[in-house]
Amino acid sequence: MLTLMKRDRAAKIVSTLGPSSTSPEMIAKLFEAGADVFRLNFSHGKHEEHKERLDIIRKVEAEYGRPIGVIADLQGPKIRVSNFADGKIELENGATFILDSDKDNDGDLKRVSISNPEIYPSLEPGIELLLDDGKLRLVVEKNNGESVETKVLVGGTLSNHKGINIPGAILPMSALTEKDRKDLNFALDMGVDWIALSFVQRPEDVAEARKLIAGRAGILAKMEKPLAIEHLKQIVELSDALMVARGDLGVEAPPEDVPGLQKKIIRRARSEGKPVIVATQMLESMITSPTPTRAEASDVATAVFDGADAVMLSAETAAGEYPVEAVSIMNRIIQSAEQDDHYKLSQMRDRRQTRGTDADAITAAAKQVAQTLDAAAIVTFTTTGSTTLRAARERPDVPILGLTPDIRTARRMVLAWGVHPVETSHFQEFADVVDSAIDVAIKEEFATEGQRLIITAGVPFGTPGATNVLRIVWVGETPSVPRRAGSN
Ligand code: PGA
Ligand code: MN
Repeated sequence: MLTLMKRDRAAKIVSTLGPSSTSPEMIAKLFEAGADVFRLNFSHGKHEEHKERLDIIRKVEAEYGRPIGVIADLQGPKIRVSNFADGKIELENGATFILDSDKDNDGDLKRVSISNPEIYPSLEPGIELLLDDGKLRLVVEKNNGESVETKVLVGGTLSNHKGINIPGAILPMSALTEKDRKDLNFALDMGVDWIALSFVQRPEDVAEARKLIAGRAGILAKMEKPLAIEHLKQIVELSDALMVARGDLGVEAPPEDVPGLQKKIIRRARSEGKPVIVATQMLESMITSPTPTRAEASDVATAVFDGADAVMLSAETAAGEYPVEAVSIMNRIIQSAEQDDHYKLSQMRDRRQTRGTDADAITAAAKQVAQTLDAAAIVTFTTTGSTTLRAARERPDVPILGLTPDIRTARRMVLAWGVHPVETSHFQEFADVVDSAIDVAIKEEFATEGQRLIITAGVPFGTPGATNVLRIVWVGETPSVPRRAGSN
């Protein structure tokens, strides 16, 4: 088995795979450079290509003996214009342009059909349509239910299949299209760990997906519609993880609102203990350059200071010229941010108010005990991941080992801040958990003889949310005289 130094940071790196990152060598290099979780983007590529990448990831995982998380990101209800007879048109400011349902005829200067004509009834006059990532803007003037007449506010070139964003309306579309349902089944069959839902509009979208997914993967809601933020609390409660999807969010909302929304989404997700990813354009210039801009370095660090669980690379690793460099630089920026004095202060300031359950009390105590005793790590034992996530929510100063007998839980936990998941055997007795915690902590170089570990678990095992045990254990011989922190 190959060995790899354990990660020297708490925030995680999600790397999107694509044409630049398909070979086994490249995927192994991205993992070695710091990628903890890989994203398969179902907006692009064929099923066989995603399967090929997943097989490679599982091989790398076996070679290094370390769980790797995989996200299947569904395209979602992205609306698009259809084809133009000439491939593209030039829209003039002030012109009238019609969107209709005539799929049989290619578009021209006067009209074009779109992928989802069922949205027309919700497009009241005055609603703005943003085309091609917001480069063109149309405003609805008339609507007869089967087509809409618009006026061009900002014109330009409009070519085949460009996307349409409609921030001002809740659209009568399920969060899962026909394509998404096929992709979802394929992704679940091949065994991904997370399903990312694009363009979530309402809490019901997450509930619907949850029924279909039925526990086979975690649900990651992408926040990219400003109207969905009005239901943020409920969406966070219904999801297993969140993504601040700044690409589409920054088209649908003014770009100047994105930084505040990022902080708001992170705060809500953290207060519920749900992992949250900050995504898109983090090291954008590295698609074509081997070094990032200072602004990009600062953006990654800001997400870390905000307390995000993970930061994500998109085109940088999927289609860029410097995928490995992008991951290594992201790795270094996170490490540097986490060693900065400002980081400790911001983590302290953000200390959340714990709720009143036994489990929360035990977990808050574990963090405090670890600090008082200068323990080497908090070791959580979990079947569903809930004990481990609860520990991560506290943002302790020491690493969190997530021991679990379920490899699927281990892979999902990789996304969470500060968590180092390890697959173990099934245990019946708490004493076996203690032995295993000590073994793993030594083997994975989290602790040496004479150090202490803080163990939390829910006994009897297997009841989610029932964290009820806290134990302090010594690695190696138990000293006969109690020692103070730092005296060993
Ligand atoms: P996408 O989602 O890359 O699938 O569009 C992320 C975003 O919109 O930021
Ligand atoms: Mn998006």
